[in-house]
Amino acid sequence: MRPSENFFSLKNILRMASCTQDFNTQAFQQERYYLKSELKNKKFKDYGLHKTILQDITALGFDKPTPIQSRCIEPALEGKDVMGLAQTGTGKTAAFSLPIIQRVTNKMDMSALILAPTRELAQQITQALRDLGKSSGIRAALLVGGVPMKEDHKALRSWPNVLVATPGRLIDHIYSKTVDLSHIEILAVDEADRMYEMGFLPQIKQIIEVLPPERQTLMFTATMPKEVERLVRRHMRSPVRVQVGSVAPAARAEQKLFRVDEHDKMPLLLDILDQSEGRVLVFAQTKRKVEQLSRKISSRKSNVTRLHGDREQSQREIAMEGFRNGKYRILIATDIAARGIDVADIEHIINYDFPRCPEDYIHRIGRTARAAASGFATSFITKQDLGCLSSLEKLTSSKISLKAVGDCALERPTAPVVKKNNRKHNYRRNSHSR
Ligand code: ADP
Ligand code: MG
Repeated sequence: MRPSENFFSLKNILRMASCTQDFNTQAFQQERYYLKSELKNKKFKDYGLHKTILQDITALGFDKPTPIQSRCIEPALEGKDVMGLAQTGTGKTAAFSLPIIQRVTNKMDMSALILAPTRELAQQITQALRDLGKSSGIRAALLVGGVPMKEDHKALRSWPNVLVATPGRLIDHIYSKTVDLSHIEILAVDEADRMYEMGFLPQIKQIIEVLPPERQTLMFTATMPKEVERLVRRHMRSPVRVQVGSVAPAARAEQKLFRVDEHDKMPLLLDILDQSEGRVLVFAQTKRKVEQLSRKISSRKSNVTRLHGDREQSQREIAMEGFRNGKYRILIATDIAARGIDVADIEHIINYDFPRCPEDYIHRIGRTARAAASGFATSFITKQDLGCLSSLEKLTSSKISLKAVGDCALERPTAPVVKKNNRKHNYRRNSHSR
C-alpha cells in the first residue's frame, strides 16, 4: 500500500491525558472545592506567598497562575498531600516548587526533597527552583549520576535547604551515609507515574523508607494509569487530587500519523527535516538506533546532536545546552528526553519509532506546544506498531476510537507521495512547518 493511502491525522488525542477521571467521592468533592476557588480568578499574591517569591515570579514574567497552579498551590501551602495531574507544559514545576520555597525559606536544614526520573529533568527543576527562589534564600543541591562524587559532597556541604535528585544517585548516598534526610518535611515526585514503574519502584521505596513518615507528599505528572495511582497513594495521606482537563494543548499541537514501512522512515524523515526550519526533536526507541540515525542525518546536516543514556554526562549536557541555546536545531533522543524537558519553541516532534506505551506518546509530544506555544507532532507507524496504536486507542476509548481515526483518513489530500523511482517523499511543507 502506498503511504499516501495510509495517512491520517489524529485530532484531540491529548484528551487522553484525562483518562483517569473516576474520582472517589471525597476526591471529587475536593475537586469541586478547588474548581470554585479557581473561579475566583486568583492571582499569585492571593496565596500569602512571601514577598520575595512574588518578586521572583514577576521577574520571570509569570502573570497569573496556570490552572494546575491555582488549584494545587493552596492545598499544598495548607500542608496537604497533593496529587496534581495536568497536561504537559502547563506549569507543574512551579505548582510544587512554590509551596516548597514558601516552606523552606531561610531554613538551615535540608527540608525538601524533589525526585525526578532523569538527570536532565533534575537539572531543569533545580534551575527553576533557583529562579523562583532566588530572593528567598533557596539553596538547592543537585545529586545526579555521571557527576564525580566529590562534587556531590561539595554541594551537600553547602547547607542546602532543598535537595533535587535522581533516585539512583540518592540511594548511593543513602548507602554510604553521606546524606541526611531526617529533616525532610516535603517530598515532591515529578513524573510520578514513571517513578512508580518497575524500573524505579524499588528505589523509590528505599528512599521513602528513610524519610520521616509525617512529611507532606506532592506527586505530579501528566499521565497516571489507575494501577500506578494505587501504588502512589500508598505513600500519601488522603491526598487532594487535582486534575486539570486537557483541551487546550490538543488544539495547539497538530498531530499526524504516517503509516509506513520500515524502509520508508529514513527518506520521510530527511524530507521533513529538509523542509523544517525550527527546532526538531526526533525520538528513536533504542540508544543504538539514536546513534544510527544521528550518523545518517549528520552526514547531511551540520546542526544535529543526540541524547541517550550511554553518553557521558558532559556530552549529555553539551547536547541539551546546545539544543536549548540554538546551536543544534535537531536533537535525536531516546525516551530519556520524553519526560519533563522544557525547551522553548520545539516546533516539531517526530516519533521515528512509535512509542511502546501510550503514556510515552503523550509525554513525547508534550515537548512541543508548551505554555502558550503551538507545534507539530508526526509519528511513523509500521505494521508492528499497530498493536501499540490500538493501546493508545484503548486508553482514549471514550474519547477517540479507531473508527474516528479511520474517518480522519479522509484528509488524505495532504499526504506525502512516494516517488517510485527514488522513494523520495513529496512532503507538504504547509502541514508541518509554520
Ligand atoms: P509541565 O511540568 O507541566 O510540563 P513546566 O513546569 O515545565 O510544565 O512549565 C512549562 C513552561 O511554562 C515553563 O517554561 C515555565 O517557565 C512556564 N510557566 C510556568 N508557570 C507559568 C505561569 N504561571 N505563567 C507563564 N508561564 C509559566
Ligand atoms: Mg514537568
